[in-house]
Amino acid sequence: MIIDTHAHLYYPDLKDRIDEVLENAINNGITKIIAPAIDLKTSEAILELASKHEMIYAAVGFHPSDIPELTDKDFDTLDSLLKEDKVVAIGETGLDYYWDITYKDKQKDFFRRHLELSAKYNLPIIIHTRDSVKDAIKLIKESNLKVNGQFHCFSGDDTDLKDALALESYCISYCGNITYKNFDALDLVRQTPVEKLLAETDSPFLTPVPHRGKKNEPAFVKHTIEKMSHLTNTSFESLVSQLESNTRSLFPKAF
Ligand SMILES: [Zn+2]
Repeated sequence: MIIDTHAHLYYPDLKDRIDEVLENAINNGITKIIAPAIDLKTSEAILELASKHEMIYAAVGFHPSDIPELTDKDFDTLDSLLKEDKVVAIGETGLDYYWDITYKDKQKDFFRRHLELSAKYNLPIIIHTRDSVKDAIKLIKESNLKVNGQFHCFSGDDTDLKDALALESYCISYCGNITYKNFDALDLVRQTPVEKLLAETDSPFLTPVPHRGKKNEPAFVKHTIEKMSHLTNTSFESLVSQLESNTRSLFPKAF
């Protein structure tokens, strides 16, 4: 059973042809898709998709790039969405210092609040970082909360990977860009223990080889898993079953 743990199914490229996207996924052995949101509008869009399609599960939360305009009221609305049956995680949230650092403090404050919600509802947190993984790890440690999570589309150096793994309750996932010729961090994938790995597409972005040029979709996750299986010296079949058990432990509500 293959699970795409991260696909932004609310994008028109995917949503407008959702039946075909899900059929392609099923034909490629994908049985479940976790779809993260970035704000309230996309949280609602995903919940609607999840209510119509059994194999879709929702993660709701605020992406760090969408934080500047947010208010406490938005956070209360998010809190109420977390009680929905098909919400299996909080996210994607985190810190992004690449596009805009004007709101660094507000980003940190909101990341902390997502961590608190994660502890309150016992739901895993899906973390986006860009040029910010060190601060994310620091805030997780400082929060002192018992939270599980996923570093999605992990980027960082060897030390960051060690620190992220040392948190113990966090998994690491890599996207289709690990199949690109110019991807320069293959060692990170090699150094990630298979029992900490998750598979994801980040659809519609980061389409893996050999589908580059097309919009990414969950069906293509197998190419990223194939690459991870080479890098970790694990057979495709045993990696798939390991990934399933990792996903089951981190996102129990999706099973
Ligand atoms: Zn994403």
